[in-house]
Amino acid sequence: MKLTKIMLAVVPLMLLSNTTNDAKAKEENKTPKNVILLISDGTGLSQISSAFYFKDSEPNYKRFQNIGLIKTSSSRQDVTDSAAGATAFACGVKTYNGAIGVADDSTSVKNIVERVSSKNIKTGMVATSSITHATPASFYAHAVSRSMNDDIAVDLLNSGVDYFAGGGLEHFNERKDGRNLLKELKKNKFKVDTVGLKDFSTIKSKRKVGYLLAKDAMPKMEEGRGNFLSDATAQAIQFLSQDNANFFIMSEGSQIDWGGHQNNSSYLISELIDFDEAIGKALDFAEKDGNTLVIVTSDHETGGFTLAAKKKKREDGSEYSDYSEIEPTFSTGGHSATLIPVFAYGPGSEVFSGVYENNEIYDKILKVTGW
Ligand code: MG
Ligand code: MG
Ligand code: ZN
Repeated sequence: MKLTKIMLAVVPLMLLSNTTNDAKAKEENKTPKNVILLISDGTGLSQISSAFYFKDSEPNYKRFQNIGLIKTSSSRQDVTDSAAGATAFACGVKTYNGAIGVADDSTSVKNIVERVSSKNIKTGMVATSSITHATPASFYAHAVSRSMNDDIAVDLLNSGVDYFAGGGLEHFNERKDGRNLLKELKKNKFKVDTVGLKDFSTIKSKRKVGYLLAKDAMPKMEEGRGNFLSDATAQAIQFLSQDNANFFIMSEGSQIDWGGHQNNSSYLISELIDFDEAIGKALDFAEKDGNTLVIVTSDHETGGFTLAAKKKKREDGSEYSDYSEIEPTFSTGGHSATLIPVFAYGPGSEVFSGVYENNEIYDKILKVTGW
């Protein structure tokens, strides 16, 4: 009698916990159809932390549950540059600093855009730098040096990229070889705009879209760039998901790195907060869609940035740190080798927790998507 009672009480509990486990397993086995990779160039934990102290609203970084760390060293050096850092994400290999989509021996390595374009997956690139700059370039181009912007622009023209937005117009229409790539882009099915983001809903989904909105880099946030990064990220998502297509988007907050190089904390923090807004756009879509994996990471840290307590002087002239006030400080004008956080949301996101190498991001994307 006693045993039966216990059994009756336990069995429904077991059933319940099995159902919960099944649902969880289903969720974890779900294959994402879309991937949005958001890269904030030059962003370590202190840069991210600045959003928690200096943004007026709650940072979108807070919306993630799966978090990991990557080691970012390049093939030959402890401290990576953006080219090797992005090539690790885009092609899955560690290479030398300066390399765009080529291995340590300078041979081309298939990038994620090449891999998925043949599978009818749409691709998009957004950056607040020139679209030919090291980070976006590594996803669609192959060059032995990041300085070969004119060649990288030709690779973009011939790539499978379906949507791009950023600066870099001069590499298309003021080229050393005299070619006018704006005309050639149009021949290659692109609708090109050099003025501003437009309503794209009139553009047929079989066409492609390219925005080149600055001669070189886009303006800084502090110089009135406005919502370009968020708007272009949201527009890329809308454009590429037309007709139920699947997509891969790389969207970069390029200038957080530049604020770090200049040891300019207001430049850095304004760019970081802008990037956090773009994260919000990606997560809003992913939450509604349910089939989208969002990954947020960086290629490396820049500036040796720290949220230090403000140094003050007592009346007797002795120094102390005032723990009630933050004074952002820097330890270098270059990059650093600190481990870099990875935030992931959506189906497959759990594989991005842990501590691993930067090029494993590529492996993990292919593993969870089956691309
Ligand atoms: Mg970088
Ligand atoms: Mg970059
Ligand atoms: Zn840099």
